[in-house]
Amino acid sequence: MKANQKANQKVSHRLPQVEQLLQQHFLSPFIEKLSRPVVTKVIRSYFAEIRQSAVFKLQGCNGFNIIEALTSRLEGVLLQRQTAVINATGTIIHTNLGRSPIDPALWDAVKEVNTSYNNLELKLEDGKRGQRKGLLNTLLATLTGADAGLLVNNNACSIYLLLHELAKGKEVIVSRGEQIQIGGGFRIPDILALSGAKLVEVGTTNITTADDYIDAITENTAMVLVVHQSNFAIRGFTESADINELSRRLPKEVILAVDQGSGVTCEPHFPEEKSVLKYISAGADLVCFSGDKILGGPQAGIICGDASLIQRLEKNPMMRAFRSGRVVLSLIEELLVRKLNEQESGKGISERLVAQLAASLAKADRLTRLFPSHIEICSLKAVVGGGTLPDVDYACWGVTLAGDPLKLSRDLRLRSTPIIGVIQKKQFILNLASVPDADFERLIVLLEGYLIDKKGDVESDCRAERVKAVI
Ligand SMILES: *Cc1c(COP(=O)(O)O)cnc(C)c1O
Repeated sequence: MKANQKANQKVSHRLPQVEQLLQQHFLSPFIEKLSRPVVTKVIRSYFAEIRQSAVFKLQGCNGFNIIEALTSRLEGVLLQRQTAVINATGTIIHTNLGRSPIDPALWDAVKEVNTSYNNLELKLEDGKRGQRKGLLNTLLATLTGADAGLLVNNNACSIYLLLHELAKGKEVIVSRGEQIQIGGGFRIPDILALSGAKLVEVGTTNITTADDYIDAITENTAMVLVVHQSNFAIRGFTESADINELSRRLPKEVILAVDQGSGVTCEPHFPEEKSVLKYISAGADLVCFSGDKILGGPQAGIICGDASLIQRLEKNPMMRAFRSGRVVLSLIEELLVRKLNEQESGKGISERLVAQLAASLAKADRLTRLFPSHIEICSLKAVVGGGTLPDVDYACWGVTLAGDPLKLSRDLRLRSTPIIGVIQKKQFILNLASVPDADFERLIVLLEGYLIDKKGDVESDCRAERVKAVI
């Protein structure tokens, strides 16, 4: 007992001063990426925990490797920050991976208009207050054949807005086959209820005809809403109403709106998908879709169609909440101009990658030659994904890595640039159809560091080790 007490007297209970600790070299990368106050907070909360612990009471600071523990905690916080990743999942528009990456040329092109003041709501012609639309009407009209267009924060906004403005307190007819849910809880029936419109279901899951819609019309019907089946497909004995016929037979005052979703317009690579242009030319009054799916722009919802209906939507009070900011507007403007000019940077990532699926073979081949004892080539399927072309997959190539798939998946996810692959049939796979050329060279360097020259990528290896302590 006496000996113990003696030992305790030598024990230091003085934790380092936070201010001094913040000067230390090992914290500077964290301060840079997380900010000094956030790092300070992590230090203080760790120290508070230490003070409470039984080990500290007995052994003081000696019981702790403060630098290691702090690094590990800060590394865990850092993982929450957005970072570029390499998408080797084979799903080209991956909702968890930010949907469509924006072409760097596009990003650079809108720098000045965003880093200066601009004419967002000013008519340069007469100096009066203008609409927040830029060239959007003209560009969308040229691209889709619709009279006018409108930009909102995402396609869920589009649907809410058109129901709220055009069908509130009235009936909206929707096919039973189209009562869909897209991803995180976006359900057409829920949106309908929120907007104040009343859902009238017609047809069956697999068959809905024009007659079904026509028969359901009452004096209270405001709209027929056709929802493009974008994240599932019903195969076999199915029938959906022809838009041409519907548009012809619907009474004038009933609006025909289509949630097209994916945003396919004129891309030659997706002939299976019914395009915005086809819906417009078939007589739909309004068509809406996402900006960050096939189009390849930033998160946005685009509604196009009849000019007087678009004007009504613009006047809805919710527009104030739904309208896009200038960053998104400028990107969409630039993208549409390039798209109309058929420039490469005007194509979305899915269009670009689907056009060069064969390149995945050359990539897989190169990896197998570089890492013959770790990697084997395999034939795979890629999908566009993100709620588009549910029934279409594309033959492509990738590689399997030898080893425990869970360990590989975790280790590669914690590289300095995370590599996201998939586990299929108990094997870890890198699908190369979704890896753009620009990312492929980086992928090689990272794999080299991981598979061959472990010392070559010390940053990643240390990180994987440190993070282990947190997760
Ligand atoms: C993707 C999609 C939506 C949701 O669009 P967000 O831009 O994610 O809000 C709605 N409807 C359809 C048919 C879709 O494909």
